[in-house]
Amino acid sequence: MKLSTRKTKELIEAIAHVVIDHMNELTELDRVIGDADHGINLERGFRAVLKNIDNISALAIGPSLDQVGRTLVMAVGGASGPLFGTFFMSMGKTFGEDETLTHERLVVAFGEAVEALKARGRSEAGQKTMLDVLIPVAAELHVDGPGTLRRIRECALLAAQATIPMVAQRGRASFLGERSAGHMDPGARSSQLIIAAVCSFIEERL
Ligand code: ADP
Ligand code: MG
Repeated sequence: MKLSTRKTKELIEAIAHVVIDHMNELTELDRVIGDADHGINLERGFRAVLKNIDNISALAIGPSLDQVGRTLVMAVGGASGPLFGTFFMSMGKTFGEDETLTHERLVVAFGEAVEALKARGRSEAGQKTMLDVLIPVAAELHVDGPGTLRRIRECALLAAQATIPMVAQRGRASFLGERSAGHMDPGARSSQLIIAAVCSFIEERL
């Protein structure tokens, strides 16, 4: 499959809109265990992406994801900008100029993006971060076959909920120690929302 400029634009818009629509919820989650800016940070980043959407989506899918990542790094002040930025840039680099999107290429690109994010954040599974959604989703992506989108959406939702009892070991929430337990990680929730939006996009519009 090859994404047309129109589809690339719609895909990026779907991601941007789900984040922007949940700005308050994400900020509230971050108020409890962080500094109340996760939604605000991502909203600023994805508004910058939308501002430049025509130029970004005119590129092949690889370079356009790379540009999304670069925009997030530049526009977002908080930790999540460079982290999500690294994720999108890595996906973009792996896709490169080859525009054929296959399940196999997606698995590789997603897996490498998770590794790049781990390296950037010096983080791993179980530390109550966005990786606690992205790592299980990367594993689930390996399984091809019927119901893939439903499984991935469900996996991301359960993974985000599973961050509630975790004690944060990275980012600002780690300053709270044991008191960070009992609340969902904001970055896990934003990752889950983005994954659900991408699944819906593939289901309904591809
Ligand atoms: P900041 O922490 O600078 O205020 P945000 O509030 O936008 O930035 O983002 C916080 C989210 O970033 C956390 O909920 C967590 O998911 C993620 N995060 C923070 N530090 C790391 C890290 N080292 N590795 C992976 N994810 C991280
Ligand atoms: Mg914050």
